[in-house]
Amino acid sequence: MAKKYPYLLCLTLILTLSGCATLKKGPAVRGEKFALGTILNPVVDSNITLSEALRKPAPPEFKERQRIIDVLYYSFDGLVHKGQVVINERLVSDIREVFRVALTVKFPINSVIPVSHDRFYKEGEWNADGQSMLSNNTSAFNYRKVTGGKSLSMHAYGFAIDINPVQNPYIKGKIVLPDGAVYDPARPGTLTRNCPIVNTFISLGWDWGGNWKSLKDYQHFERVLDKSFN
Ligand SMILES: [Zn+2]
Repeated sequence: MAKKYPYLLCLTLILTLSGCATLKKGPAVRGEKFALGTILNPVVDSNITLSEALRKPAPPEFKERQRIIDVLYYSFDGLVHKGQVVINERLVSDIREVFRVALTVKFPINSVIPVSHDRFYKEGEWNADGQSMLSNNTSAFNYRKVTGGKSLSMHAYGFAIDINPVQNPYIKGKIVLPDGAVYDPARPGTLTRNCPIVNTFISLGWDWGGNWKSLKDYQHFERVLDKSFN
């Protein structure tokens, strides 16, 4: 039993200092400039063009407002990865700021790959059966309906992003997405109310699905701007 206490103390300290569970260690950046998995030489998860990122069918007026940006993040392997976010042009600076914070506090993000990436293409469709979510992938723009509803999701406008779906599931009654996922704030990569990522989003005017009452969508952040196309 005594052996367990240092571990518990350590875990408590990490949670207290960072506000949420992050990576306990990562590679040193200085002196490893050219090693794979560092800021100057990240593992590349996604490197596609904007037109490739917009291959999944959507009305042109929805696509026109999207931009693709490169982001750096620590993945669960402790290495720095480079991914890409497709987001509404008016939210580009917000997303850059959130990823800057995530990198600084070493909050692990599994992967950040647009849903129109080849790896989510199956039988003539992109992300047909939610492969992105099942792969614990973080993504933003996605022309689709709301989960379990008929209206367009904020993802269709590029006004929303889902982060680490496996650690941060959608929970409504007995429905849990992705299937079998468990929300455990002690696990690295889990979003909690005290997490710097959540605080950054909130300070920028975003709404977090973890604060919702009727259901919990812990992976989901949205900032709803003007939806009209006039
Ligand atoms: Zn979402």
